[in-house]
Amino acid sequence: MRNVKHLECIKCGLRTDPVPQATLCPACGGLLEVIYDYDWIRSKIAPADFAGDRNPSIWRYRRFLPVEETSPGPALRVGGTPLYQPEALGEVIGLADLWIKDDGLNPTASLKDRASSLAAIKALEAGAKVVACASTGNAASSMAGNAASMGLSAWIFVPQRAPQGKVAQLLIFGANVVKVQGNYKDAFDLSARAIERYGWYNRNAAINPYLMEGKKTVSLEIAEQLDWSVPDWVVVSVGDGCTLAGVWKGFVDLYQTGFISRLPKLVGVQAEGSQAIARAFLDNQPLAPGEENTLADSIAVGVPRNPDKALKALRDSKGTVALVSDQEILDAMRVLGRQAGIFGEPAGVAGLAGLRKLVRDGIIGRTERVVAIVTGNGLKDPASAGLAAGQPLEIPPDLNQLTEAVTCWENESARKEPKRA
Ligand SMILES: *Cc1c(COP(=O)(O)O)cnc(C)c1O
Ligand SMILES: [Zn+2]
Repeated sequence: MRNVKHLECIKCGLRTDPVPQATLCPACGGLLEVIYDYDWIRSKIAPADFAGDRNPSIWRYRRFLPVEETSPGPALRVGGTPLYQPEALGEVIGLADLWIKDDGLNPTASLKDRASSLAAIKALEAGAKVVACASTGNAASSMAGNAASMGLSAWIFVPQRAPQGKVAQLLIFGANVVKVQGNYKDAFDLSARAIERYGWYNRNAAINPYLMEGKKTVSLEIAEQLDWSVPDWVVVSVGDGCTLAGVWKGFVDLYQTGFISRLPKLVGVQAEGSQAIARAFLDNQPLAPGEENTLADSIAVGVPRNPDKALKALRDSKGTVALVSDQEILDAMRVLGRQAGIFGEPAGVAGLAGLRKLVRDGIIGRTERVVAIVTGNGLKDPASAGLAAGQPLEIPPDLNQLTEAVTCWENESARKEPKRA
């Protein structure tokens, strides 16, 4: 890896070799970060070069990724997700320059594919045949899909509450699925012990330093899609904190390489019922374990695995946090669907829900440019979609009964019309 200098512990500064199996700092147990040779990257690629690259996946950014020159890219089209500017949604939220990055359009329908594809590549580099992880759902389903696409086996540990759509994905992708009777922490702890016993490749995001590097590609894409200009704010939901940290790393790498000339402020949004990282940020205190009490299962994390990098990202970016209720999350699902035609899962839209609050509170200005990342697709969790949007009209096959409903709808639409004008 000519582009990588070494791994560096964010706690004690120890430098280690960037071997594919790297996990935590061997000296102090701190998180490791990939340190790049930005001069080398700059000598190899410039912003203008991307225009001629026909590969839409994260592989277009491989100079910024910790992968061997000889490694194959992801077999699936990971990344290359659209960045929309839905004006009607902007009006409802109160923003004139709102952009939505729909990362639910990744191959297994969440942003986690960006990390899992890197895990698969690094597992192959390590000569591993099996990858393992614990997850509330999306890390698992994306690992299972990316493993299947690259000829790897997967052992996946999920907590009892993982939604059906995500478990269905695991099974279809042929993973060995262990539903642990307990919460996310229980699933995580069992996976860690199994990984140690069997020597599987570890895809647990806070422990594996390479996964955040995959996640950062969302920021590389956003910057490229905005013609290498930088939004004022980037908003994302937070569970373990790896996604937020990855978003920050992407912008920092581009800044250090000279591709962009400033950095955005980040917003990390958590659910009121699972707010460990937001609490630590707001109270300026070390992280204390919290509850896992939200229907947004992907961010139901009581003991976050990556608070250090996430808190650092928030502080370094001069960003902030927001807390949202489950009701606000469901409202955001509905608004996003109706105003923009985008279907997000609860955790996927929590960022948007938090953004709405920050605009209302005047913390984000109405003319600032904001990118909200939708991190996962709503089809993963149809039960929550039902809570957000209700049930269909059910009638006999009778045109007269339909007529009643249509008349009602017409009257309602007419009442709404004047407001629009
Ligand atoms: C995992 C996930 C998040 C949060 O990412 P963390 O790294 O745990 O903070 C947000 N939304 C969705 C849909 C996710 O799957
Ligand atoms: Zn250390």
